[in-house]
Amino acid sequence: MIIGIDDTDSRSGMCTTYLCAVLVDELRKYGEVSTPRLVRLNPCIPFKTRGNGAVSFEVKIRNKEEEAEVKEVVKVRVRELSELREEETNPGVVFIDDEALNARGREENGGEAKLKNFYENAVREVLTLEDAYELISNFHWDYFGLKAKRGLIGALAAASFFVLQKDKPNLYDFTYELMTYRRRERWGTLRVIDEASVWKADAATYPLTWDTVDVANKEIVFAPHSPCPVLFGIRGDSVDAIYKTYEFVHAEPEERKMLFITNQGTDFHLIKLEGAEEKLQDYHSYVLDGVVSSNPRTIEGGHVIFSISLSGKTSIECIAYEPTKGFRAIIRNLRVGDVITVYGSLKKGTLNLEKIGVRKLNIELERNPRCDACGRTMKSAGRRQGYRCKRCGTFKAGKDREIIERKIEKGLYEVPPVARRHISKPLIRMRVEGTDKAIHPSR
Ligand code: ATP
Repeated sequence: MIIGIDDTDSRSGMCTTYLCAVLVDELRKYGEVSTPRLVRLNPCIPFKTRGNGAVSFEVKIRNKEEEAEVKEVVKVRVRELSELREEETNPGVVFIDDEALNARGREENGGEAKLKNFYENAVREVLTLEDAYELISNFHWDYFGLKAKRGLIGALAAASFFVLQKDKPNLYDFTYELMTYRRRERWGTLRVIDEASVWKADAATYPLTWDTVDVANKEIVFAPHSPCPVLFGIRGDSVDAIYKTYEFVHAEPEERKMLFITNQGTDFHLIKLEGAEEKLQDYHSYVLDGVVSSNPRTIEGGHVIFSISLSGKTSIECIAYEPTKGFRAIIRNLRVGDVITVYGSLKKGTLNLEKIGVRKLNIELERNPRCDACGRTMKSAGRRQGYRCKRCGTFKAGKDREIIERKIEKGLYEVPPVARRHISKPLIRMRVEGTDKAIHPSR
């Protein structure tokens, strides 16, 4: 049976991945339990707590009685561990038993395509609870929810990801995260982690692990600051490298740890639009090609904004927020005429930048020409009438063109780990993958 769960936590405590870890450990007595999946969904969803994560896993159950027992254990734990006092916590659980799984229709009646659509739309679009109920009734899946049950959307997306990825492990790009959890008596207290050991741990396995520390900002980024049960999480592409990192870290004793297969660090949220820019919508994330149409400027709060024109028609504003730190210095080096690709989420019509690709630099600077006789700058003689030196009366038809040096190179640039979303792909992963693109990782 595959089980998907979401929306059990709030800002004041808990974490759906912890609930998942507790269940995975507890349910082992019924049969083999798979490596759980941690699926990050649309990062723009307003009612998310933090990283819009949902979880799923599979338990190999022996018979129907045990299946009923497992469902009961899950319901009890969800009731017990969810932050139900919080208005924004609306748990949802979906159970896909083997019968339901086999009856999913596969290719014949488009069953697989429905799951694919649901998962992909949960990462890239905004879904409704009606969409969730439609999928549930389509496949006759069992489900459970509390309060408004909004978590059913995430639960279904995580379960769909599991079903799809179970048969075709390489259908989607994926990474791993090893999460460690604090002992209950320590929840809400300051985390005890030996910082020096974390820097050593990172140095031992980067780039097979990433986003453990932020070198440019001299910060450790693998541990949250919230009162949730997570002690720290090690992210990476190699399970061996992750466990090696873990061995290096000295920290308070943990209650448990759990390895997740995840869509973190994959950029799966980005929609690549080719020529339909007029359809851009808020709460969606895009990869867009354009030309810088206004020079970057720093506004109050230290945010940097500029505009790009898309296919010569639509123009949108892009922003690098203050928390993106050194990334703003890169953005400030852009200038009108640069051909770039922007990666980020659209909110209130402004693209919140996660990465940029500089494809062609505008290295020409146009100036009013200088007078050959006296060397002074000539003035415009009127619209389309060339330039004249007021002093000498000399004339030139067009502007002077100067080749300038730029402080930025072509290639891909990214926000630093302190500002990175869970689902965003670190550029260093592209190096590991052997891409031939010029990349400038933030480290
Ligand atoms: P954490 O990262 O700490 O687990 P969270 O950020 O995942 O917390 P949730 O408490 O799970 O936040 O809240 C997100 C809610 O949004 C869930 O109810 C989930 O079902 C719903 N949701 C997720 N993706 C979408 C989507 N694409 N469209 C509509 N609702 C969504």
